[in-house]
Amino acid sequence: MSFLCALVSAGSSARVATRIAAPRASAMLTYRLLSTTPRLSAQEAPKDYLGDSSSSPRSLGTRAATFTAADEPGKNYDPYKDGPSAIDKAVHLFFLTEILRGMWLVLEQVFRPPYTIMYPFEKGPLSPRFRGEHALRRYPSGEERCIACKLCEAICPAQAITIESEARLDGSRRTTRYDIDMTKCIYCGFCQEACPVDAIVETQNQEFSTETREELLYNKEKLLANGDRAEAEIAANLHADHVYR
Ligand code: SF4
Ligand code: SF4
Repeated sequence: MSFLCALVSAGSSARVATRIAAPRASAMLTYRLLSTTPRLSAQEAPKDYLGDSSSSPRSLGTRAATFTAADEPGKNYDPYKDGPSAIDKAVHLFFLTEILRGMWLVLEQVFRPPYTIMYPFEKGPLSPRFRGEHALRRYPSGEERCIACKLCEAICPAQAITIESEARLDGSRRTTRYDIDMTKCIYCGFCQEACPVDAIVETQNQEFSTETREELLYNKEKLLANGDRAEAEIAANLHADHVYR
C-alpha cells in the first residue's frame, strides 16, 4: 500500500514539475529558433527573458562557457552580426527547406552507380602489400629459398612458426620441418619482413576458410604448394613494392 502511495505521489510531483517547466522550456525553444546567434549549440537566454536563474549551478556553468560582451567591455562586440537573421530562420522553418534538401540528397543517390559489389563474383582491388595466406617460395631452379635461419620463427609475436633444420651433405642448411599454425597467426607480416631471402611471404589469397581447425595447421609441403601456385603474383607484388623496402 505504501508503495502505491509513493508511486501516486511521485507521479503527481512529476506532473507539477512538468507544468512549471513547460512555459520555461517553450520560452527557451522560441528564443533559440528566433535568435540570430551564429552558434548552433544551446545558448543562455537573457536573464529578463527567462527570469533570474543565476542561483542554479547549471546556469553558472553555461555562463562560464559563453563569451559575452561583458567579457570585453572596451570593445563594441556584436555576437549576432555573422549569423542568419531571424527572417532567414523563419523562412527555412516555414518552407521545410531541410526536408527538401534531405529528399534531394536521397534522389541524387538513386541515380548514382552502387557502391557495393557482388562478392564473390566481383572482387575489389587489393594492395600489393596485402597480407593473406602464407607461402614458401622456390628459386627458378626449383630449389627452396629458405635457408633455415629461423629469423621468422624468432620474430613471430604469436609464436605460430615452428622450424626444424639440418645440414645437407653440401654444407647448406635446409628445413626439415616448417609449420605455421594459422589459427595463431595475426597476419602482422613480421615473418616476411625478417626473411633475408624472401622465402616466406604472405600472398593475396584471403579465401582459405576451412571446416576444421586441423586444416589450418600448415606444414612445409602445403606452404611450398601455395608458393608454387602463386609465384607469378608474389613476384609481381614484390617488384611493385621493392622501392619502398
Ligand atoms: S604474419 Fe606475424 S603472426 Fe603470422 S606467422 Fe608471420 S610473424 Fe607470425
Ligand atoms: S623463411 Fe626466411 S626467415 Fe624463415 S627460416 Fe627461412 S630463410 Fe629464415
